[in-house]
Amino acid sequence: MAILLFADHDNASLSEQTAKALTAAAQIGAEVDILIAGKDAAAAASQAAALAGVRNVLLAEADALEHRLAEPAAALILSLAPGYDTIIAPATTTGKNVLPRVAALLDVMQVSEVTEIVSADTFKRPIYAGNAIEVVQSTDATRVVTVRTAGFAAAGAGSAAAPVVAVETTDAGAALSSFVENILSANDRPDLTSAKIIVSGGRALGSDEQFRAVLNPVADKLGAAVGASRAAVDSGYAPNDLQVGQTGKVVAPDLYIACGISGAIQHLAGMKDSKIIVAINTDEEAPIFQVADYGIVGDLFQILPELESSL
Ligand code: FAD
Repeated sequence: MAILLFADHDNASLSEQTAKALTAAAQIGAEVDILIAGKDAAAAASQAAALAGVRNVLLAEADALEHRLAEPAAALILSLAPGYDTIIAPATTTGKNVLPRVAALLDVMQVSEVTEIVSADTFKRPIYAGNAIEVVQSTDATRVVTVRTAGFAAAGAGSAAAPVVAVETTDAGAALSSFVENILSANDRPDLTSAKIIVSGGRALGSDEQFRAVLNPVADKLGAAVGASRAAVDSGYAPNDLQVGQTGKVVAPDLYIACGISGAIQHLAGMKDSKIIVAINTDEEAPIFQVADYGIVGDLFQILPELESSL
């Protein structure tokens, strides 16, 4: 038995999500090879090789793989698939883009957004926006699995670096898609999905000016990322990429401060695994208090400036 872990990286560095998915892969209980598909990606490969519990790092470099487009990346994984009975990836934008194509081409069922490894073929995953946990046993010869990394600690450094092995690439899939442009929003705050602290705002913020004026100073003091509820995003108070929840990002920081957020189930689906949750809400009956470790019943426009000056 062996596992192929499709790494999330940007050629220069390996994302922490890969180290977390490695922990999940290790719990399956087989040898793990990490696949770095990219271009000029030796740096990411050596970071992967330094992780504990890695048998080999497979380094596949080609122009078509530079941006890990689904078509050439899936074709590459397919060419390696016969050597593995599990193909796993973190459920990041890249993992969620590439692995369904792999599963379709292998004609197997993907098990998506796994939160717990029960055994080599059995996994737990949330359904109904996290209201129920499904136990899925796969009878497929090759299991294709994405991991919701929030529930897994990142694998640490190993005692010796794993070998980095160059892998043959082909042109398969390369003509099907091409990379045009990567437009990144300018943001000097930590990335929402990897931030240790998130200050998140809801509809109660009332306007985009107030959203920024009230949340940013506290986030600045804490070195935190800023998040938002869907109501805040839909009202235009915050950009789309800040949305936390079922249809936004799934986060699990050490500290999540929910300000003027009621705690709808779809919001909780994205943040309830946070280690410590602080809620600030004027309504003591707000559902957010049911998941909060610390609750402050009060007006966020008064409490947040006070918190900022105390910090
Ligand atoms: P509200 O529910 O309006 O809550 C505002 C809160 O602010 C209230 O609790 C109020 O008491 C409090 N408040 C008011 N004034 C103050 C003040 N001055 N100080 C402190 N507190 C105050 N939502 C998400 O967030 N993420 C998702 O990904 C998401 N996906 C969805 C997917 C589907 C299919 C559907 C149907 C819905 C989804 N939603 C999602 C929407 C979700 O159901 C809620 O409508 C939304 O989360 C509510 O946002 P909110 O808490 O900011 O607003």
